[in-house]
Amino acid sequence: MKTTLHTDITVRDICKGFIYNELEGKGLYGLDGKLVIQPEYQRHYIYNDGKHDVDVITSLLKGYPLGLIYFNVAGDKWEVLDGQQRITSFGRFVTGKFAIKDANGMEQYFSSLPKDQQDKILNTKLLIYECEGEETEIKDWFRTININGIKLEPQEILNAVYSGPFVTAAKAEFSNSQNSNMQKWKAYVKGDEKRQAILHVALQWVSKDTGNDKAIESYMAAHRYDTNINELKAYFNSVIEWVSGTFDTVEKEMCGLPWGEYYESYHQNAYSHSTLNDRVHELYGDACVKSRKGIFEFVLGGETHPELLEIRLFEDSTKRAVYQTQTQAAKAAGISNCPLCAMGHTNERIKIWDLKDMDADHVTAWSRGGSTDISNCQMLCKTHNRAKGNKC
Ligand SMILES: [Zn+2]
Repeated sequence: MKTTLHTDITVRDICKGFIYNELEGKGLYGLDGKLVIQPEYQRHYIYNDGKHDVDVITSLLKGYPLGLIYFNVAGDKWEVLDGQQRITSFGRFVTGKFAIKDANGMEQYFSSLPKDQQDKILNTKLLIYECEGEETEIKDWFRTININGIKLEPQEILNAVYSGPFVTAAKAEFSNSQNSNMQKWKAYVKGDEKRQAILHVALQWVSKDTGNDKAIESYMAAHRYDTNINELKAYFNSVIEWVSGTFDTVEKEMCGLPWGEYYESYHQNAYSHSTLNDRVHELYGDACVKSRKGIFEFVLGGETHPELLEIRLFEDSTKRAVYQTQTQAAKAAGISNCPLCAMGHTNERIKIWDLKDMDADHVTAWSRGGSTDISNCQMLCKTHNRAKGNKC
């Protein structure tokens, strides 16, 4: 990789012909058209928060260095490899897109700053590395850089590494805040679309990724030069339509569940829509259910895995009370205080266990309607409790 250091390019030069696209939220061009500020592997502009963007301007006014900026040579253009956020910040300021507060707390747009301060900003020289090299080399290196301490998300890196028509089309669909489906999607998919969270999940689902991004990577490599995202879009929509059609309500616990996996496992099952939704409603009202996230997989899977619900265990006070009653009665009868030991034929038939060696058991399992209160609690020795297994 060949690098050339430029020390004479100024903020004024970069801002010449600066274009910011408000709708897409990104800086597009600078340096009189020579500079592509957001090539497709770059992420969206995220500095427009009244802090990061203002910090960039404050740094310029105080003469603090902005840090190294990297441009990549692409034909007769330059692309910003690192520095997009900083460049877009000063570009937006110089073109009057936001204001900063002066020493007296007054809002100042660029045009209202005193001339000497305007010049100070515009005449700031930047440290720019121009990089020329093999695509893989530059992208490998790009994988390792962090931009001003904000770490790139794994999907942002994958977008860089597999940039091309597929990524461009995928981002236009899944990373676009203006997409009218976004609100619906975000009921089920967690994360910030600008940081590629929705696209990441869409790729995860279609590639059946298990969480290590390996399948996503192969999928992106295989489809890199595709000019459409039909399969990705169709699969994602099938999952979303299936979830939203299966469950009537949108609960906050539904957001971020592995719906793609559930879809694969359950979408071919026939459910009674009303029974399923009544059960969800009932379980939401059940005080014993500790994990509401688990309700959906529990009902989809035919209620065979109550551990998904993390059923509440008995209170310590309940266990102590039951232990005392049970032990007193056992001592009087000369049998073990574990009712299952008492029925056996070994020495433990008459053994009185300590409280610490016993566990609480639901007499009627929770899954068969048994409650988690004192009337449904019995103490068993640990061995028998484990053997009975079905804690819920
Ligand atoms: Zn026992």
